[in-house]
Amino acid sequence: MLTVALTGGIGSGKSAVSNHFETLGVPVIDADRLAHQMVLPGSPALSRIQETFGDHLIDQQGKLNRGALREIVFNDPSRRKRLESILHPPIREAMEDWVEQQTAPYMILVIPLLFETGQEDIAERILVVDCDESLQYQRVSERDNLDESQITQILASQVDRQTRLKGADDIIENNGDLAALTEATERLHQTYLALSKS
Ligand code: ADP
Repeated sequence: MLTVALTGGIGSGKSAVSNHFETLGVPVIDADRLAHQMVLPGSPALSRIQETFGDHLIDQQGKLNRGALREIVFNDPSRRKRLESILHPPIREAMEDWVEQQTAPYMILVIPLLFETGQEDIAERILVVDCDESLQYQRVSERDNLDESQITQILASQVDRQTRLKGADDIIENNGDLAALTEATERLHQTYLALSKS
């Protein structure tokens, strides 16, 4: 069984690509979605976040105030590292358990911060979705309603394009329309099916 880690900068098209892999019947797991599940009320990771960063992050229903947590860690590398040390081990474990359960020829692990968190060894291949920075700005501002300086800040917190491209086994260039993206994904699907047999 072949495992492929899918990564890319914000707004590069990771979700569009992974959604299409899913429609092709490929099992997909997403680290960001797992991270969400890890901090549901009553979870061990949420208790550790509360102990580490303070009770004010938890509301009366026991729910995490994500915005407040993001603000605490965003510009503070040491706090960010502490948060990662709480969340990443259980996320990684959940991914590894999930991989064990799959029976498809290959599977996709979407890990937006693959390089930033040093997880390059989690899968056999690394697929990078890449596009011009100007398109990232355009697509993210439309999707998330963020302004230019907010997007610049997020881009600065992620590895640069060249680092990502250098670490890639496969690259989907997403500078065209959605039809071109679908086509590129389907070509790669055939490649992965062939690779999984060899
Ligand atoms: P990511 O998951 O990498 O942050 P998304 O897949 O959510 O990126 O893409 C960002 C936004 O841009 C989404 O609204 C998506 O629908 C749109 N998008 C992605 N690729 C294209 C494309 N080739 N043409 C037009 N819109 C696109």
